[in-house]
Amino acid sequence: MDLGVKGRTAIICAASKGLGRACAEALAAEGVNLVLNARSLGPLEAAAAEIAHTHNVTVKSVAGDIGNAAVREALLAACPTPDILVNNAGGPSPGKLKNFTAEDWTKALDGNLRAPAAMLAAVLDGMAARGFGRVVNITSSVVRHPIDIQGLSAAARAGLHGLVSTLVREHVGRNVTINNILPGPFATDRLVSNFTFRAKQEGLSPEQALAARQAELPAKRFGDPVEVGSLCAYLCSAHAGYISGQSILIDGGAHPQLL
Ligand code: NAP
Repeated sequence: MDLGVKGRTAIICAASKGLGRACAEALAAEGVNLVLNARSLGPLEAAAAEIAHTHNVTVKSVAGDIGNAAVREALLAACPTPDILVNNAGGPSPGKLKNFTAEDWTKALDGNLRAPAAMLAAVLDGMAARGFGRVVNITSSVVRHPIDIQGLSAAARAGLHGLVSTLVREHVGRNVTINNILPGPFATDRLVSNFTFRAKQEGLSPEQALAARQAELPAKRFGDPVEVGSLCAYLCSAHAGYISGQSILIDGGAHPQLL
């Protein structure tokens, strides 16, 4: 299926690896030119070069913390008229409420709420004026299905979901959509670091904790980041103009719910 976005431009935040990188790959495979962001310059530039080479698209990179306003300005300067925005950031620290520091709160709110909010504010009117816009926010299944050590993540992301729910109707008549992807457990470095935390708590090795979790999952496997990339590309496609304000759980059936 041709997604109808060849030649369009996308900003993808937090995209040198993991789920953001998978979104970048999937959009590049459709001929979308990219501006990618991540904090570490080396891996970011390597990812940009690989994607450009593989998919024959233009890929620029802007290094820095997406929670920092100057980095967001640099991203928007590198891509002043994006057709597509994928909001993503590293996940907040796991832990217990009483142990979260002021710095933990600032980092979570800056990266997972204020940054996507600021990017939305910067791009929506221009997308509407141009008659095409697709925004996808990578959030987490934790918004629907709480995980007790992910309170910071749930708090910041629920805030973003609430904000998005107030924005959806403003520009959908101008072909601008905003949707959230809520990943369950996907095989990325983030997942491994979360299981390292859980393993310590349970007196297991990280490998034992990962194997135990996979065995519990209905799909008997973690998700492949490519699966998030494909969903993201479809939501950003020309065909998805009538899908907006949706929060799509992608978790291999891990979280029981009434359909
Ligand atoms: P990952 O494999 O660790 O990749 C994170 C990417 O984001 C890297 O490219 C990293 O590069 C970049 N990054 C991290 N913090 C950043 C920041 N403040 N500013 C700019 N770039 C930043 O993580 P992932 O699994 O893809 O997770 C992506 C998001 O999905 C996270 O918010 C995570 O909590 C959420 N999520 C993941 C899962 C899962 O199972 N994997 C499930 C639910 C939700 P640098 O380190 O160089 O910045």
